[in-house]
Amino acid sequence: MFERLGRFGMKIARFMQGRNGIDKLSIFLFVLGLVVNSVNSFIPALKPSLVLGAAAYALFGWALFRALSKNRMKRMRENVRFLNLVKAFGLQNAGRRVRGWFDRLSLRVKYAGSHRFRRCPHCGETLRLSKKRGRRVFPCPKCGEEVRVWIVF
Ligand SMILES: [Zn+2]
Repeated sequence: MFERLGRFGMKIARFMQGRNGIDKLSIFLFVLGLVVNSVNSFIPALKPSLVLGAAAYALFGWALFRALSKNRMKRMRENVRFLNLVKAFGLQNAGRRVRGWFDRLSLRVKYAGSHRFRRCPHCGETLRLSKKRGRRVFPCPKCGEEVRVWIVF
């Protein structure tokens, strides 16, 4: 494996040895930093604030610090505490749900010219339909229940 990484990769691998590396808490901090940063720069009503900007970089810094930390026991305990907190709030699947939402959105954008999307009222599955106008009745491919759609445009 190390031959394929090349010399630079080997240097990185050696550098990361004994360090915490990337765990879920670090990923969360990094993503939160990205969110704070984009809120700060893209929402015009909120004038870019120094506090939010600093908060975003503090989150990036914290994520980096945790990844490079050699105190793995302590970082692992923090990560476990974080995961327990996530579980306590019932958010274990939040990441997957957000990703699913983005996947569906990108599919919609991809097929916007040729297809329409409707949700099956029985099982909740998102169905991709041709753009042909009018009313249509068909069995849901997932649950088999009857789905009625009316595609107007
Ligand atoms: Zn269905």
